[in-house]
Amino acid sequence: MPDVAPTARAHVSAKRYIYAWGAGTAEGHGKMKDLLGGKGAGLAEMTLAGLPTPPGFTITTEACNDYFANGKQLPAGLWDDVLGAMKQVEERSGKGFGDPKNPLLVSVRSGAKFSMPGMMDTVLNLGLNEETLQGLIALTGNERFGWDAYRRFIAMFGRIVMDVPARVVTNPDGSTAEYNRFDDALDAVKHARGAKSDTDLATDALQEVVVAYKAIVREQTGREFPTDVYEQLDLAVKAVFASWFGKRANDYRNSQKIAHDLGTAVNIVTMVFGNMGDDSGTGVAFTRNPNTGEKVLYGEYLTNAQGEDVVAGVRTAPEIAQLAVDMPAAHAEFLRIGQQLEQHYKNVQDLEFTIERGKLYMLQTRDAKRTAAAAVKIAVDMVAEGLITEAEAVARIEPAQVDQLLRAQFDPNARKGAERVAKGLNASPGAAVGRAVFNADVAVEWVARGEKVVLVRVETSPDDFHGMAVAEGILTARGGATSHAAVVARQIGKPCVAGCAELVVDYGTKTARSAESGSSFVEGDWISVDGSTGEVFLSALPTVEARFEDQPELQQILNWADKIRRLQVWANADKPEEAAQALSYGAQGIGLCRTEHMFREGERLEIVRGAILVANVATRAKAKVAAAEALTAEESAALATFDSAMAKLEVLQQGDFEGILAAMSGLPVVVRLIDPPLHEFLPNLEEQLVKVTKAGDAASAEDKELLATIKSMHEQNPMLGLRGCRLGLMIPDFVKIQTRAILNAAVAVKRAGLDPRPEIMIPLVGHVNELIATRALLDAEAEAVVAAAGEEIDFKFGTMIEIPRAVWVADKIAEHAEFFSFGTNDLTQMTFGYSRDDAEGGFLLKYVEDGILPENPFQTLDDVIADEMQMAVDRGRATRPDLKVGICGEHGGDPASIHKCEKIGLNYVSCSPFRVPVARLAAAQAAMSDGAFRDN
Ligand code: PEP
Ligand code: MG
Repeated sequence: MPDVAPTARAHVSAKRYIYAWGAGTAEGHGKMKDLLGGKGAGLAEMTLAGLPTPPGFTITTEACNDYFANGKQLPAGLWDDVLGAMKQVEERSGKGFGDPKNPLLVSVRSGAKFSMPGMMDTVLNLGLNEETLQGLIALTGNERFGWDAYRRFIAMFGRIVMDVPARVVTNPDGSTAEYNRFDDALDAVKHARGAKSDTDLATDALQEVVVAYKAIVREQTGREFPTDVYEQLDLAVKAVFASWFGKRANDYRNSQKIAHDLGTAVNIVTMVFGNMGDDSGTGVAFTRNPNTGEKVLYGEYLTNAQGEDVVAGVRTAPEIAQLAVDMPAAHAEFLRIGQQLEQHYKNVQDLEFTIERGKLYMLQTRDAKRTAAAAVKIAVDMVAEGLITEAEAVARIEPAQVDQLLRAQFDPNARKGAERVAKGLNASPGAAVGRAVFNADVAVEWVARGEKVVLVRVETSPDDFHGMAVAEGILTARGGATSHAAVVARQIGKPCVAGCAELVVDYGTKTARSAESGSSFVEGDWISVDGSTGEVFLSALPTVEARFEDQPELQQILNWADKIRRLQVWANADKPEEAAQALSYGAQGIGLCRTEHMFREGERLEIVRGAILVANVATRAKAKVAAAEALTAEESAALATFDSAMAKLEVLQQGDFEGILAAMSGLPVVVRLIDPPLHEFLPNLEEQLVKVTKAGDAASAEDKELLATIKSMHEQNPMLGLRGCRLGLMIPDFVKIQTRAILNAAVAVKRAGLDPRPEIMIPLVGHVNELIATRALLDAEAEAVVAAAGEEIDFKFGTMIEIPRAVWVADKIAEHAEFFSFGTNDLTQMTFGYSRDDAEGGFLLKYVEDGILPENPFQTLDDVIADEMQMAVDRGRATRPDLKVGICGEHGGDPASIHKCEKIGLNYVSCSPFRVPVARLAAAQAAMSDGAFRDN
């Protein structure tokens, strides 16, 4: 098809607002969607390609914007230009607008740059009044057809243009229902005449309907239905403009992130009639199945009907294949045109057509909306057909579609009828169904006896991990996108709804109740948690499973993405199984192994607690020993307990590291030394206080001592307290045993013939001296391990950049660190000064809702954080040009953030294993030119 410059056109208004088409030529073309909207551009393009379209013209989106800017007045001169364009349509169609002998009827159709299906308004059959109706009847020789068109026009115009309100009925339960008054009147006539369907109504019945409709208009609007066809046109154009800011359209744009200032074009198109008898019809069809992607014409049509009948489902429409039987010539032509359009647009087309007395007219073509499964299949098929390139196929898939394909989903039909309890943050996608339990131990017990459970907590802590691990999904009332529940759920691939603030969770009565919906459930009730939308439903909704290994087309797309992307994709994984999972999804390394997560399982937590309780005393004792001072009996005992617990931990951790290094043989594994404050591993202060207080005099000495220790370690702001490298510097044994465990694991794995590539990472560095001191501790241990093993061990030493101060001194830090990894969870927390534990459950989501913040900065990298990262990269690489830099905060798996990481020039992003496929796609799309890569 030709790609031509727009044809000139004289105009009265200051700007050119009109582009016409017809008689085989068009003034606009398919690439002018900004100005002509999708529909107008499509009609122009189809006309240029020689396809049969009814003549008409487009009033541009610019006119719509100027109309609103003008206080809802048409720009000066536009109306004269419309009249001129109507003259041209009259010539091209050989009919006269308002001519009682040979009337031209038009449709007035909305059409924005992006398709907004059903969100804006369209009026058909415009130009009818009592006189032109007679002309239409005389011309077609079909009285019933004429009256049917007329009554449809009055109803549509009345509702859309004249704002005839719906009839609102309040149900006994207080809910309301809306009824179209015109449908009411039609039903009344049908009922009185015993007619089942609209087509059973004869001419006199339709005349009665017209009288009733006009009465409705008079009663509801206080004026007569307009008979002047130009007044009809003027009002309809303004009504279509107005529908741009209608509630439906606004909501749709918000949900689809479409800008509100684009405006809609208005298309005025000669009416062709699908309701002129059995050799006429109308339909909608896709060039391929938009649900499955299968390459077959898919759609439906109705004989002797107008477009609205198909859309409204008034009559059950037969499949498009039936058209081959009913009107073989029209079907063959339609099939040919469909293929031609698909070849031209290189995309699946969503088509509207009308057949008037055997002649086919194309009314619309646009890129079809499709499911995730169809998107992937169509993209792969089109590459095989030579229609698009591999890169175009990669560009066509939305990252969210990849995510969708990897998660179990609730059956959409079941969702519709389900009772929604509450809505929280969509913290980890997927669909989970289980019986509600409110305690991690109970979760484990129930699962052991074969139940499926959803763990419901006010918030989760490391103590709940075992319950989370066995649960189908997790629901919390507090905490946001980087809360413990969210981070862990994503890492282990469980659906999670977090920060469901409306939910009041009562552990005592084992109930959860929504303060908003009033719905509640108790322990044992089935609930369904949708981690993709944040919704929680009562009862067990049916789900549909998804498996990566069964999706060769998705894998194909991702393999193509791998060829395009520059950023590597690594995974955050703490266990060999997670590492294996990440590998199977295509991870190229482990970017974050949070070693403290290994402290939490089963017997380990007890060992860790044993060590922590005496850690401070033991550390002081060690200092005394080093200074050759004598120890008290208590100090000696504490030291022995501590060393024995740490020795056990060292053995256990070495086992863990061997598993991960072996699973990732040949690939880098970044192991981060212990990060969280120690009291996270101790029992909760409040619970221990209650226990001791309740027991009174009967409280055991052990419990009292435990309480005292917990109190002594308690911090008002633990996030800003003794954690990260600070902890390792206060209690150096943590650094020592972890270093030994990592390096001895590397020795063992190497001896087993594999290729371990450990990288040791220090968290929460703010001052370069912290890094220097930690490195000194670590190097001493490393030398000892090398000496004992008798062989060299290759490892890298690096740090997280997650404190704003570290950004400023990144050049100094890079003197000592071989790599940086951005901990953007903490960097966001500390740059904004928002607590990552509290903000999302509090003000933050409201901020986003109210537009104070454009996005939740814990989900998508804020621009200032991105600037900080850029500064750290620039300063770091100024010192060390080959500095390797990655990101391991939650943003590493977020497509929008990955685009920013590409721009910053990171080497890799690291995310939870289940987000690796999405990240592979997003990294490829980021590598391709921004903006131009999405075609829908
Ligand atoms: C971070 O802060 O971004 C990070 C990865 O570390 P953590 O979430 O464990 O604090
Ligand atoms: Mg951190």
